[in-house]
Amino acid sequence: MEYAFFEGKIVPVEEAKISIKTNSFHYGTAVFEGIRAYWNEKDQQLYMLFAKEHYDRLIRNARALFMELPYTAEDLVEITKELLRKNQIRQDVYIRPIAYFKDLALTPKLVGFTPEVAIYTYNFGRYLNTSSGIRVKVSSWRRNDDNSIPSRWKVAGAYVNSALAKTEALLAGYDEAIMLNQHGFLAEGSGENIFLIREGKAITPSYQEHILEGITRKAVIMLLKKELVMEVIERPVARSELYVADEIFLTGTAAEITPVVEVDNRKVGNGEIGPITRELQEIYFNAVRGNIERYKVWLTPVYEK
Ligand code: PMP
Repeated sequence: MEYAFFEGKIVPVEEAKISIKTNSFHYGTAVFEGIRAYWNEKDQQLYMLFAKEHYDRLIRNARALFMELPYTAEDLVEITKELLRKNQIRQDVYIRPIAYFKDLALTPKLVGFTPEVAIYTYNFGRYLNTSSGIRVKVSSWRRNDDNSIPSRWKVAGAYVNSALAKTEALLAGYDEAIMLNQHGFLAEGSGENIFLIREGKAITPSYQEHILEGITRKAVIMLLKKELVMEVIERPVARSELYVADEIFLTGTAAEITPVVEVDNRKVGNGEIGPITRELQEIYFNAVRGNIERYKVWLTPVYEK
């Protein structure tokens, strides 16, 4: 039997149902997270990656929508551990927590409502092709502006923007969309942050460029600096820089580290995964699975030993 966390309890997933009248369902006023957990066969252990960081972000984003959740980040980590154990997960898994207003009133507002948290597990597998890389298209859809629906927050309604861009890319035969912001500079993918490698330096749009404050992005910046001893520059990035980059990759919980081998029908570098992207992938995939001792601080073990 599969279970979910719903209205304060772990229940069979069939019982975790909301009404069609639910306010947040109509207006997209929910905040969510995506967390991965990796199974380590040798340790016989399931490791949640950056669990506390994801729940801290959920709580911060919820507050921005006037949602005071009745849980701390620590509570939510414990609840998630319990859910994973209850579902007897012994393989890689994706976890989707969502905070929403459960009220059945039809007004697009954020006050006077009661927030609720639901969590379920999902067998995502690989989201994008991390082993041979992907082809991307610069979208005709611009990323949400900070003064309309802030991309900084993981707000459900903002994902209409992602869905439009992703769909346009898929229908045109590409794997993913890269969005520019309202000023015409690079923002991010539909569900990933973006990095370019140029002349041995890593470049990524800064937080002011209307992007999500990605948790993988932050970890990757640290790895580039510490492990690959590279300079990382956070600044506005022009679209044209994509076409002259030596390497490009996307980062995200679902996307992990996905190499981009083609952008707008132009090969990135020689059209193969670049050496820096490869080295970074090697470290990242080992770190998240618990194979690198010094990065075990990123991980929360699920099973008691
Ligand atoms: N940008 C967007 C729009 C996303 O949806 C995601 C996925 N959460 C990311 C970036 C990457 O964020 P993270 O590394 O925290 O998963």
